[in-house]
Amino acid sequence: MIELVLEAGDRGPRAGTLITPHGCIPTPVFMPVGTQATVKSLSPRELHEIGAGIVLANAYHLMLRPGAERIAAAGGLHRFMGWSGALLTDSGGFQVFSLGGLRRLDDDGATFRSHIDGSEQRLTPERAMRVQEQIGADIIMAFDECPPAEAGREAASEATARTHRWAERCLAAHETDSALFGICQGGMFADLRRESAAFIAALRLPGCAIGGLSVGERKALTWPLLEASVEPLPVDRPRYLMGVGSPEDLVEGVRRGVDMFDCVLPTRLARNGALFTPAGRVNITNARFARLDRPLDEECDCPTCTDFTAAYLHHLFRCEELLAYRLASLHNLRFLIRHCERMRAAILAGDFESYAEAFLARYQPANEQTRYAQRALYRRTRDAHHSAAAPTLPGERT
Ligand SMILES: [Zn+2]
Repeated sequence: MIELVLEAGDRGPRAGTLITPHGCIPTPVFMPVGTQATVKSLSPRELHEIGAGIVLANAYHLMLRPGAERIAAAGGLHRFMGWSGALLTDSGGFQVFSLGGLRRLDDDGATFRSHIDGSEQRLTPERAMRVQEQIGADIIMAFDECPPAEAGREAASEATARTHRWAERCLAAHETDSALFGICQGGMFADLRRESAAFIAALRLPGCAIGGLSVGERKALTWPLLEASVEPLPVDRPRYLMGVGSPEDLVEGVRRGVDMFDCVLPTRLARNGALFTPAGRVNITNARFARLDRPLDEECDCPTCTDFTAAYLHHLFRCEELLAYRLASLHNLRFLIRHCERMRAAILAGDFESYAEAFLARYQPANEQTRYAQRALYRRTRDAHHSAAAPTLPGERT
């Protein structure tokens, strides 16, 4: 089982320690995403080196390949992927509803086509539990229905009610000592969000996740909806905001009492040459880096900035050398992990707002227009979703 020991804050910014069977994890925490039981291009040793304590994997992808039974036979996911830290698996709900293979949705579950071989697959709350238990992560997620940002009230309400019925079935079907987190939904409606969070809170699960945010809605809408979701949640359980992980969004999430985050953004951006700096994202392939014989970010303590110059990184990207993806991923992940470490230190010092204001004053986020353009591009090329070169998206769950 897992437990959150809070050290500062209850409402608003919180700092604590998440105690898991595979290590104690300081919170707030950013969890790198290892969709297919690997954080793309990085080894577990490298993940430890940049301070990652918990990694997310995806039950949807792993049940299709290599199969949950295969992972169980190999001794469980920790052993299979050689990772001694904590693990969380996402249930597959988001993938079923977002990858375009959905064939039939009924109250019992969802039938979909595998994106790998087109075979028909079925996920129910019970199957999602069985699959995740076989995979064997420390934290497993309830099977939910994530309504799209454009869902009207009726559709959002139906998806939320189904998510609640499925959460109860997940709880009833859950057999191992992995920690089952519930997921609250509610679409873009604050009252549905509050109701959903209250429902999930009442199940007294060891953690509560907030799903269905940062799925394409305007940021001005995201934060009030997050507040509506967080308010009914128990103070003594970890809160996990799913699929959110841009540097500026982490500040807004922590400010509103979120403890855990995950997102493919840092690694996917990295593979496209977009790197975080304290002033905002830069593209390393830009000609201005060709002669920069200094680290990309001189304040950064990551292995990449310690050992290599921006000019060298630029060169690797221009040549499409494999090392480019690894060095860029190390840097972006370390940037977010350090950002969380600093927010935690600021919370413990009673000075979160000073840190938040200083960070946001300096960090220039990619503007919303760029992000919408990226999202539109992504929707048109959804089938290319799994390629390393797929367009990047903020707030995306893989
Ligand atoms: Zn760095």
